[in-house]
Amino acid sequence: MKVIDHIQSNEKTAFSFEILPPLKGTGIEKLYKDIDILHEFNPKYINITTHRSEYVYKDLGSGLFQRTKLRRRPGTVAVAAAIQNKYNITVVPHILCSGFSREETEYVLLDLQFLGITDLLVLRGDKAKHESVFTPEGDGYHHATELQEQINNFNKGIFVDGSEMKVTNTPFSYGVACYPEKHEESPNMDSDIYWLKKKIENGAEYAVTQLFYDNQKYFDFVERAKEAGIHVPIIPGIKPFKKLSQLSMIPKTFKVDLPEELVKETLRCKNDAEVQKVGIEWCVMQCRELMAHGVPSIHFYSIGAVDSIKEVAKEIY
Ligand code: FAD
Repeated sequence: MKVIDHIQSNEKTAFSFEILPPLKGTGIEKLYKDIDILHEFNPKYINITTHRSEYVYKDLGSGLFQRTKLRRRPGTVAVAAAIQNKYNITVVPHILCSGFSREETEYVLLDLQFLGITDLLVLRGDKAKHESVFTPEGDGYHHATELQEQINNFNKGIFVDGSEMKVTNTPFSYGVACYPEKHEESPNMDSDIYWLKKKIENGAEYAVTQLFYDNQKYFDFVERAKEAGIHVPIIPGIKPFKKLSQLSMIPKTFKVDLPEELVKETLRCKNDAEVQKVGIEWCVMQCRELMAHGVPSIHFYSIGAVDSIKEVAKEIY
């Protein structure tokens, strides 16, 4: 069943979460343990992130360095297939412009097609750590809109070299990302919503938000998107706050504001265990309000937060 069907057919708010592939060289068992913990809350689908490679430098001495490329978290396709088979659940691998040429993307699509995985989240992807401005890989793309075109062509049986095939498979369906507090590179919200609308017109069936801690920002964003003619589901992406260090890390990394009340509550805590409790209570409050507002689905960012999400899910599902 496709993500959009799960969202639309669910009587109560659907539960879904995102996981990261294991670090290179480590096993999948820890991932299974995390999924087992959240599985009891009947997730409708699981997203699997994709990570570009980064340059690493080896000191050869005498001022010489060797530069190599390293993908720290490969394995998105394999992890998606393993989860699909083990849990018999809809999986949503993320597919990126960042770090992939058109041909590499085509190989990813072919592998997914062989595996019967047809849901995707289509993204530009993060910049490389050394980049101040996003740079595509070889003939790869600048924006998710362009990657959508390749996927749409693939669905019609058109390959990147222009050759064609007869389509026999189920076509890919996909969602895209959106930002209730604006994407960091966007000059303003109108421009960001303009491009979101293009992504929907290009075929995205839904959008998933960047994490946020202030529901009003989500509600305002959804209103603005509707006014701009965007009528697909906009799924709130949520992550329970957990550590004191996140007070500076989260706004810096995700370009989102933390509500004053959450900051005050966090600063009163004596240790991270107390912060985690505050984070869970805040997240439960956010989810209840979102549910009361009728959101079709809540998507949890689970990295480092599986235990907290379990506590939240116990309260709301
Ligand atoms: P785009 O849609 O390309 O937008 C990027 C910027 O360009 C925006 O400012 C937009 O307004 C503008 N824009 C869009 N289209 C055009 C156009 N055609 N011409 C000019 N300007 C345009 N990153 C990863 O590396 N791996 C992941 O697995 C991953 N998962 C994510 C999941 C979710 C739900 C979210 C919200 C983000 C995720 N990210 C991930 C981060 C994401 O890749 C970054 O935020 C990235 O900087 C933007 O991706 P995008 O798909 O929104 O890009």
